[in-house]
Amino acid sequence: MTQRALTIVGAGLAGALLASLLARRGWQVDVFERRGDPRVVGYAGGRSINLALAERGLHALRQAEADRAVLEKAVMMRGRMVHPLHGTPQLLRYGRDDSEVIWSVSRGELNILLLNEAEAAGARLHFDRRLHAVDFDRRVATFVGEGTHEHAFQSLVGADGAGSTLRTAMARTVDLGERSESLGHGYKELEIPPAKDGGFRIEPNALHIWPRGRYMCIALPNDERTFTVTLFLPNHSDGKPEDPSFDTVQTGEDAHRLFARDFPDAVPLIPTLEEDFEANPTGTLATLYLDRWHLDGRAVLLGDAAHAMVPFHGQGMNCAFEDCVALARHLDATDERAAAFAAFEAERMPNARAIQAMALENYLEMRERVDDADFLLQRELERLLAERHPDRFVPRYTMVTFRRLPYATAFERGQAQRALLVEATRGRTSLDGLDWAWLDAEVERRLPPLPAEG
Ligand SMILES: Cc1cc2nc3c(=O)[nH]c(=O)nc-3n(C[C@H](O)[C@H](O)[C@H](O)COP(=O)(O)OP(=O)(O)OC[C@H]3O[C@@H](n4cnc5c(N)ncnc54)[C@H](O)[C@@H]3O)c2cc1C
Repeated sequence: MTQRALTIVGAGLAGALLASLLARRGWQVDVFERRGDPRVVGYAGGRSINLALAERGLHALRQAEADRAVLEKAVMMRGRMVHPLHGTPQLLRYGRDDSEVIWSVSRGELNILLLNEAEAAGARLHFDRRLHAVDFDRRVATFVGEGTHEHAFQSLVGADGAGSTLRTAMARTVDLGERSESLGHGYKELEIPPAKDGGFRIEPNALHIWPRGRYMCIALPNDERTFTVTLFLPNHSDGKPEDPSFDTVQTGEDAHRLFARDFPDAVPLIPTLEEDFEANPTGTLATLYLDRWHLDGRAVLLGDAAHAMVPFHGQGMNCAFEDCVALARHLDATDERAAAFAAFEAERMPNARAIQAMALENYLEMRERVDDADFLLQRELERLLAERHPDRFVPRYTMVTFRRLPYATAFERGQAQRALLVEATRGRTSLDGLDWAWLDAEVERRLPPLPAEG
């Protein structure tokens, strides 16, 4: 019997992890990456400098025995440190205690670590090879870089990110039902350097947020004692001079004026604000929906190539890593490649749709709601209900971030829970005099116990 072989396009986060998972199971894995080897030429940068890693991603890394090495370089984030325009920043914890935290990781370091793991497991990595074209009838892919290279494949996996070339090639053969919805907002990265004594300039164990209604800033810590700040703004102006957008904030000086007005406590933290703003690219944000992710047994898409999402739940990579574990499981379960790809798509597509929707909702929550009185009251009630009914009422953020139940379940339960919180707090400014007997009965009626996770 010929060896089970797979060709992965893209050695980013998902491509590198999938290569490792499959090579460990004895698959022959070839990975083609358009960039140079980051271990030799340095990391060329990706969609963000750092990322939040949560339980789903960590669980996937455990399957490749890469979790410990990743956590050694990660910075723990216990909650959101909300910076109001006036007043003192306040920490809103994500979970019950330090068993429920997220981790800030460097994209470059994580990618390199996963490439090393993949190679050690036996995957063959080919750098400076950009997928150019695919002949699905002959099962031959053409890569360019230092010439043109033809590669015969059994099946292709598209881990080549939001602008996937494999997706474009597949769409020439089969209708993928592709649509992309721009968020209408973009982002710019800036940096808070270490303090003079070499330490962090602000609380390191938190994800900092400066919510300002239609826009916001966030900052995630890096292990070299810096923070990466991301400014999210609408792309275009709404005509009101006081509402900033990338149309109206174009130069370093414009950015400085905006920060001095709306993020004054951040100004002294970012000494190179003007230079960073002008030197760094403005990122775009969109949600990608497809009705199909596979072409019989010949090709399948995963990660951002299948379902790019906006970054406001910090789950794009976590979801992509969950995809890798699921695909490896389906490939192991049957020798029928087409059946494995179809089963993978059937399992993961509803979950991808759910996290895409939750990521969009979270932008509103982060930029508008985290400091609003209704929201804080609902959160207080949510915490109390979670204590009273730990197996039934689990905050949606917890289900997404610290549990591994399907995203689609988290989305549905989250909607039922939100409805109850809104109903119970309507017209109230405090929880005094709440009808707990009614609330407890409603929780039991509307929310069956969650199944235990394996
Ligand atoms: C601002 C921002 C912040 C984010 N924060 C978080 C976060 O906190 N937590 C989180 O979980 N997710 C986050 N994400 C999402 C996360 O970045 C993505 O979901 C993740 O990178 C997807 O991994 P991937 O491997 O599918 O794609 P990518 O990481 O984009 O990798 C694709 C790879 O394919 C290569 N490639 C592309 N085209 C070709 C070709 N033709 N031939 C060969 N190779 C090719 C690329 O060079 C790249 O190496 C964030 C995204 C953004 C934009």
